[in-house]
Amino acid sequence: MTRTAIVTGAARGIGAATALRLAQDGYAVAAVDLSAESCAETVAAIEAAGGRALAVGADVADSAAVSAAVDRVAEELGAPTILVNNAGILRDNLLFKMTDDDWDAVMAVHLRGAFLMTRAVQKHQVEAGWGRIVNLSSTSALGNRGQANYAAAKAGMQGFTKTLAIELGRYGVTANAIAPGFIVTDMTRATAERIGVTFEDFVGHMAKEAAVGRAGVPEDIAAAASYFCSEEAGFVSGQVLYVAGGPKA
Ligand code: NAP
Repeated sequence: MTRTAIVTGAARGIGAATALRLAQDGYAVAAVDLSAESCAETVAAIEAAGGRALAVGADVADSAAVSAAVDRVAEELGAPTILVNNAGILRDNLLFKMTDDDWDAVMAVHLRGAFLMTRAVQKHQVEAGWGRIVNLSSTSALGNRGQANYAAAKAGMQGFTKTLAIELGRYGVTANAIAPGFIVTDMTRATAERIGVTFEDFVGHMAKEAAVGRAGVPEDIAAAASYFCSEEAGFVSGQVLYVAGGPKA
């Protein structure tokens, strides 16, 4: 039986790499992002590798759009029993300069988005008596200057994950979180721009800080997601795996 996975924020970065990896693992994959067009490259890469994929446009913070997206995935690819809540944004600012909108936008995408997606998908998981949920947290959950909103959201993802594990475990559903350290993506490229350093310098600095002496790449996170989604990870639930190139965030 082919299982169906949904990966949000799959147009680029960690989401795109995770969508590709889950397709390589043999799942049909729905790539969800703000527009279906933005997922064209991800879907083309999956299909070129012999996989099955569907591009779906939806704002994960929009309840009606999420319901419609999950219904469409169920109809066109099969009942989704794997969910990777990866969509994310940054609105960094020091607290005294952080606006209401900076706060609300980050909470809406990360926390409300993960909540809405998970609520819509769990019904398929419970029906199937099997499921895997992977939520993207961050080392920023431990605190990071200029990220009061993002750190709160990413710490929130951990509490959300543990509660899902407790509520859904009896239906064969596991829920785990991945907390990446510095990963080379458009998101971290934007951070370099914001703080006024070249991306090369930024990556070089982060590589030196990491115990393994390199910066992370999206495939590092995709590999961890692949494990959590696997059959053999069925006794691993409610965990937070820091994938950060070392013991320290
Ligand atoms: P990215 O390159 O910015 O990709 C994020 C994707 O999410 C984009 O395609 C974005 O679409 C999409 N997205 C944003 N808002 C959305 C919404 N409301 N509905 C649907 N899709 C939406 O980011 P990334 O670096 O791959 O990060 C992926 C996840 O890992 C995020 O949750 C992030 O917080 C987390 N993370 C990243 C790092 C890192 O170092 N990169 C570290 C720790 C945690 P648009 O392009 O249209 O905005």
